[in-house]
Amino acid sequence: MAGEFDAKVLEVERFAEEGKNTYLLIRMEKPQGFEFKAGQFVLAGHPKLKNNDSPGELLYRAYSIAAAPHMPFLEFVIAIEPTGGLSKFLSEHLAPGDTLHLKGPFGEFLHRSQKEKAVFIVTGAGIAPAMSMVRDLMFKGSKKVIQFFYGFHSCDMFLFKEELKKYSTERDNFFLFPTSFKDGPCCWNGTCGYVQPLVEEAGYNDENTHFYVCGSPGSMKASFEVLTKMKVPMQKIFTEVQA
Ligand SMILES: Cc1cc2nc3c(=O)[nH]c(=O)nc-3n(C[C@H](O)[C@H](O)[C@H](O)COP(=O)(O)OP(=O)(O)OC[C@H]3O[C@@H](n4cnc5c(N)ncnc54)[C@H](O)[C@@H]3O)c2cc1C
Repeated sequence: MAGEFDAKVLEVERFAEEGKNTYLLIRMEKPQGFEFKAGQFVLAGHPKLKNNDSPGELLYRAYSIAAAPHMPFLEFVIAIEPTGGLSKFLSEHLAPGDTLHLKGPFGEFLHRSQKEKAVFIVTGAGIAPAMSMVRDLMFKGSKKVIQFFYGFHSCDMFLFKEELKKYSTERDNFFLFPTSFKDGPCCWNGTCGYVQPLVEEAGYNDENTHFYVCGSPGSMKASFEVLTKMKVPMQKIFTEVQA
């Protein structure tokens, strides 16, 4: 059930690209009594950032929980909007020891079935709820086939790289398809380009498949277009737009 909680920040990792902060990876204490399902989100506010449009209120924004329910802490991936309200404030001010006010959990972007193959198509900070679901499935020893298509800008923005690679080498049911979509020369010896052609190439050959799509509105539109082209029925597609 949703509630309101104060949670202490334990760690703040900053990912920068071309000199600009791009993502924050925040690890926080899990407040007493806070329970959630993999894939859910919270509304987070910083006590020093009030909402100018609503006097007395904090400026709240939705952030998906990247940690899984069994983990002893909460984790969030925050894409920093250069002209943003809360994300910019957090990128400039957030430090370990700070407290954030959380409301939640909310959301129905949840893993649906133990039987169906799961295909994740995520870009940027859209990895957060997918990571939560994958961590949950891995923890529970799920044997179902999981394909994880993940598009990030430059190669340095491949979040959770070691953990995802570990799943793909140690589990015979987890298949990782990372790709960098930055313009210009390819930045590694992996795949470069948008994530959608990889999805199309892998094909839709098992009707017992669920697709979980998350990211910015633009990348989600492109993912929908490709899934439509592949004739995936709408009821097999689950989404969350991070906007
Ligand atoms: C379900 C869901 C899950 C999401 N999960 C994630 C996630 O995991 N990671 C992620 O990065 N994003 C996520 N998002 C997006 C996130 O909620 C924010 O939209 C994003 O971080 C941008 O917020 P922002 O305040 O930085 O910028 P904006 O919302 O773009 O705010 C900028 C505008 O807010 C106004 N503003 C600035 N300061 C103030 C103020 N003090 N008071 C009032 N207005 C002000 C200004 O007009 C400014 O132009 C999610 C969204 C949804 C709906």
